[in-house]
Amino acid sequence: MARPSLRERLAQRHAARAEAHALRRLRPAQAREGLRLQRDGRWLTVFCSNDYLGLADHPRVVAALRQAAAEHGVGSTSAHLVNGHHRLHAELEEAVAEWLGHPRALLFGSGFMANVGVIQALLETDGLCVQDRLNHASLLDGARQSGALLRRYPHGDAEGARRQLQGAGERPALLATDGVFSMDGDIAPLAALAGVATDENALLYVDDAHGIGVLGPQGRGSPAAAGIRSPLHLITLGKALGGHGAVLAGESELVDAVLQGARSYLFSTALPPALAAASLEALRLARAGDGLRQRLDALIARFAGGARQLGLPLLPSTTPIQPILLGDNARCLAAAEALEQAGFLVAAIRPPTVPAGQARLRVTLSAAHGDAEVDALLDALDRVCRQLESTP
Ligand SMILES: *Cc1c(COP(=O)(O)O)cnc(C)c1O
Repeated sequence: MARPSLRERLAQRHAARAEAHALRRLRPAQAREGLRLQRDGRWLTVFCSNDYLGLADHPRVVAALRQAAAEHGVGSTSAHLVNGHHRLHAELEEAVAEWLGHPRALLFGSGFMANVGVIQALLETDGLCVQDRLNHASLLDGARQSGALLRRYPHGDAEGARRQLQGAGERPALLATDGVFSMDGDIAPLAALAGVATDENALLYVDDAHGIGVLGPQGRGSPAAAGIRSPLHLITLGKALGGHGAVLAGESELVDAVLQGARSYLFSTALPPALAAASLEALRLARAGDGLRQRLDALIARFAGGARQLGLPLLPSTTPIQPILLGDNARCLAAAEALEQAGFLVAAIRPPTVPAGQARLRVTLSAAHGDAEVDALLDALDRVCRQLESTP
């Protein structure tokens, strides 16, 4: 048997990625202060963080982490169902459930782990998972791990979701969507999707990683902004809440089914209790953060208005995610590099994170940005995009 060499296979894949300007590389930050970050000895203004409310550095959040670590140590020492479940985890779950108006909540190690675990726990091979074509990778992976039939519908198309549900036979079904799409910044048509889920007797699952803290009354997220309540609602703690982890909130029986069966929950060490304490403080700040949300909305309007005036290829978004569509990988990388030279850190997002030919600069805004920083970024974007146009 002539077994192909795995090393050779990997070398070929590496070469193909390099050819397509699709290689990624890690670059450590030497220091970070709010939205300023030091890399290779230079300070840059960050426009790609998901810390939408500026809570990652908030003195009260940091103090909560410090104090809880002093009292309870760092590691939780085991999974939740062994001895890792701490009073602080339980308090955070109760606070999230209360904030979002659900009877129960369950803390996960990360949003990725939550999505994979939730779908795997709820669906079996006779199930159906219907998803938006632009859903986050973790929702897709969860459906794959469950072994259920996966059907995807055109982006943002509730009637497309209905057709997929109707066309897949009589299977118990989950309809899963991002609340705010992470690479486009647009919002799912949640009221229409909730109607489809009800009509078709499917369960709606909203992953609101980018909506929580930002949208809706008290920052309760995209379902609240759309005037619906999803039976299952995932929030992550690593974006607007400035911490780490994720919480599934929803109907008691559904959340319990996830606790009983989600492998990424059962077989993984619980988050440090001190992180739960930090998130609890961040939750209080986010919930009472109307001032921060007003500030953020003003910056979004400033940036989007400015970008449109300059004729930049901005995608239509009303959230802090404001992507500029450049299309080609090499152009997108060149633009990000030029912006870095000008002192700004903006992520060049390329396939497979986005569809082929849709590489983009994913600009994200935070309540902690200043007006002048946003204006300076617009100036730099204008210069960089003009340069791109004038080079073939
Ligand atoms: C970031 C993100 C996740 C993953 O959450 P982590 O806590 O970072 O693992 C899941 N879903 C969506 C839509 C996201 O944007």
